[in-house]
This record gives sequence, structure tokens and C-alpha cells, in this order.
Amino acid sequence: MNCDACGEAAAGPLATVTTDAAGGVRHRTVCQGCATGAAARARQPVRMCVRCERITSAPVLVAEVHQGTGPGFNVYACPGCAPGLPELPDALDLLG
Ligand SMILES: [Zn+2]
Ligand SMILES: [Zn+2]
Repeated sequence: MNCDACGEAAAGPLATVTTDAAGGVRHRTVCQGCATGAAARARQPVRMCVRCERITSAPVLVAEVHQGTGPGFNVYACPGCAPGLPELPDALDLLG
């Protein structure tokens, strides 16, 4: 059995990875090394910066907004903007 990701014959047990791609859910049988890498990538958070509105793969949580009417949400900024952002009360103004 070869790994679907790297094509190498796996030394250990193969893992099945489910990816939720744009084209639909896909199952791949991959070696442990690739499975770990895929899981790490899937876990990697990607958020939009509240200030510059760019997508960052290293978001910094700058505020947790709690709404009285429903579930709250988190506000993220990119590492470049985060230090200059105000604390929570002003984050609500930022979101306008
Ligand atoms: Zn592999
Ligand atoms: Zn930013």
C-alpha cells in the first residue's frame, strides 16, 4: 500500500484522512508522516485581520465579543496590526 500523498510505500499503518475540499469530501490513504502534516495544516487557523482585512495564517486574538442576543465571536488581527489595536470596548466600534 502506498501513501496517496507522497507515494512512498508506508512503513507503518496507513491513516485515512478526510479532506473537505471545494469539490466535496475526499478520503485519502496516507502514511503517518503525511497524516500528521495534513492534520497540522487543517488545524492551522486562518482568520481575517479586523483592521487591514487581509487573511493571516498567524491571527492574534484581540477581542472576544459577547452579544446579548446570541453567541459571541472572536476578533482577530494579523501580527502586524495587533499591537496597535485598542482593547475590547473599542473593538466594537472598529466593527462598526
Ligand atoms: Zn506519505
Ligand atoms: Zn492587519
